[in-house]
Amino acid sequence: MSVVRIEHVYKDYLLGDQKVQALKDITLAFEPGVFLAIAGPSGSGKTTLLNLIGCIDVPTSGKIYINDMDISGKTPDELADLRNRTIGFIFQTFNLLPVLSAAENVEYPLLQRKDVSPKERKKRVDYFLDIVGLSRYAEHRPNQLSGGQRQRVAIARALAILPSIVLADEPTANLDHKTGEEILSLMKQINRAFNTTFIFSTHDKRVIAKADRLVRVEDGQISILGVRSDAKWSLVRQRKGRSVAAKGTREE
Ligand code: ADP
Ligand code: MG
Repeated sequence: MSVVRIEHVYKDYLLGDQKVQALKDITLAFEPGVFLAIAGPSGSGKTTLLNLIGCIDVPTSGKIYINDMDISGKTPDELADLRNRTIGFIFQTFNLLPVLSAAENVEYPLLQRKDVSPKERKKRVDYFLDIVGLSRYAEHRPNQLSGGQRQRVAIARALAILPSIVLADEPTANLDHKTGEEILSLMKQINRAFNTTFIFSTHDKRVIAKADRLVRVEDGQISILGVRSDAKWSLVRQRKGRSVAAKGTREE
């Protein structure tokens, strides 16, 4: 089983009458429980790829499967429902609602879920605020929290729906190095404890070093696929549809 499978996906944007090819022929599959970094320079297509996996946007062509379900042809309502049940989001700028407390922010995505009772909502809010170490800050508003604490709230919010996938678009980009490391370590602990798949984008080598799978994108195409076991990366360079093994080499 694959948690995410992407087959020959292209994504074009129209900018005025100009076509921008953001992704070109992406084919990938991941098993549940991976801790995957999507790396690449600014403008390479990382956010576009995350948005497609997160069913926030649809490909121009090609297919995407989430938990082996083909999501092409789904209505916007069906996609929203799939997101609300399956995918947690973490953003570079945290995206918390400023007028809500930490606890209310964590609760927020659960309000759309009619199958989750108020009692269960409260239980999950308490549980996940505890997991991210913020029980004492439940009543604080985002502007009363540090950047690292805000990202912890965002992690708890992403987890509250009990997602099979958490997508994080440059989750450490607005944090200092030490705080970024702590956030990554927390994500990794959660990944290990719950077997939740984490897919995060970054252009920070130190963040990439914490992943166990790597997809490097350049100019909308996959340039390197990597798998890490213990401390060693096996990297496979992708060239014009062919794979060239480069075992044991390191990500530079
Ligand atoms: P990254 O996240 O790696 O910085 P993006 O996925 O945001 O890259 O962007 C990939 C390419 O698509 C870039 O050339 C970018 O300018 C373009 N792009 C992204 N979003 C849009 C959009 N909404 N409209 C037009 N072009 C876009
Ligand atoms: Mg981006």
